Amino acid sequence: MSRRTKIIVTLGPATQDEDTIGRLIDLGANVFRLNMSHAKHAWAAEMTRLVRRQASDRGVHVAVLFDLTGPSIRTGEVEKPYQLAIGDLVEFRREGTKPTIPISTTVNYAGMMDDVSEGSTLVVDNGTLLMQIQSRQDDRIICECKNAGELGSRRHINLPGTRLNLPAMTDKDRNDLALAIECEADYIAGSFVRDAAHVHEIRRAIEALEGTAQVVAKIEDQEAVRNIDAIIQASDVIMIARGDLGIEVAFEELPLLQRRIVKRCHELSRRVIVATQLLESMIQNPTPTRAEVTDCSNAVYEEADALMLSGETSVGKHPLRCVDALIRIASRIERSGGMGYGQGVLLREERQKTARAAVTLVDSMPDARLVVLTRRGVLANHTAMLRPRTREFYAFTPSEIVCRQLAISRNVRALRLPFAASIDETIKRAAALLIERGHITPGTPMVIVSDILSDHIAANSIILHHA
Ligand code: PGA
Ligand code: MN
Repeated sequence: MSRRTKIIVTLGPATQDEDTIGRLIDLGANVFRLNMSHAKHAWAAEMTRLVRRQASDRGVHVAVLFDLTGPSIRTGEVEKPYQLAIGDLVEFRREGTKPTIPISTTVNYAGMMDDVSEGSTLVVDNGTLLMQIQSRQDDRIICECKNAGELGSRRHINLPGTRLNLPAMTDKDRNDLALAIECEADYIAGSFVRDAAHVHEIRRAIEALEGTAQVVAKIEDQEAVRNIDAIIQASDVIMIARGDLGIEVAFEELPLLQRRIVKRCHELSRRVIVATQLLESMIQNPTPTRAEVTDCSNAVYEEADALMLSGETSVGKHPLRCVDALIRIASRIERSGGMGYGQGVLLREERQKTARAAVTLVDSMPDARLVVLTRRGVLANHTAMLRPRTREFYAFTPSEIVCRQLAISRNVRALRLPFAASIDETIKRAAALLIERGHITPGTPMVIVSDILSDHIAANSIILHHA
């Protein structure tokens, strides 16, 4: 059964053995994510090796995504967790200062006291503890608890609506990024990206180490949403990181934001991932809740490029069932059609207009297949964003790296093919390869779109060829 939506699987203790990785690939995992908030370097390098080996054994292109922790705010160490009741006062202070009230912890970001204002909300531990900032001094703030709960060590803090002056990357991120380059990561994701400059900084760091990884910008807070256009244009891929975003904005805004960002990514021709809590209950249970099925369906209906599993596959009890569930949902919903945001792509470049003409042509020919000849993957991605209705389409590229970087792109099957001196010969070889692999039969009409050099001129062209 064909499936257009790509699947990203986060590796962790539940999925770290080679056999499981192989089975996940057999089921249909397209990308493996390593969450550097938890991963040790030796482990991340080992996982990359296992993924590469399992993929090459099968002759498939599977990508690896390193997800950097980013500049998140965390509480310090507490001797034992505080049990908090409604109305309790909690102090958050700069490192190196002394407590002034009984319930007190440090925070790893000294600038926090300058960024926050009295009366605003502070959220601890991914939404489990809600607090209001009562008073602010240069080196500490005092907050009032709005619900009961536990405050332990190194808990994540969100400050919804507060503009933070955190850097794009921490020292740890730079270190992790260097490892990602060593491992030849296909994608590097920046967490809590807040503007285009942050994306540029990550890209510069990759280039400085001569890495080829593409940049994924995780949209996690209100500031990123405000700067969304610039971030989309600066990035290769956008991730709607609903975990943090769902805390940073009022939760009823989340569905609207998701839809708006997916739509805008289509308009600006950038790939988009929907992430977090897609199948959260399956961390424990063998089947999804009805609400989760509906949520996944919605993302497929919006024609996102990829859906991402986090805890479901890193620590969950049923990682394989989760991938299977996503595949069942995606395959079914795709048959019902989609939102059609591909119609709204802003055709800003000639090659996008050429791709549009090719998609119109192939969609008018029920038996035809779409083929893209692409050196860097750019034309393949522009074509994919137009959301052709044809069954999966084929992107031929001489580069193994480009093949892997197309693993996240909706409806694209990448095939490696060294280009011949003439475009005719390249097309012959492409057709032969598709026939050999059983994707098409002789005589199948192929609509080929290309911007590669043909007889020494770089020309955008559409060719209708019968295999
Ligand atoms: P995380 O990012 O899993 O690294 O926090 C995703 C999210 O916030 O949704
Ligand atoms: Mn996050």
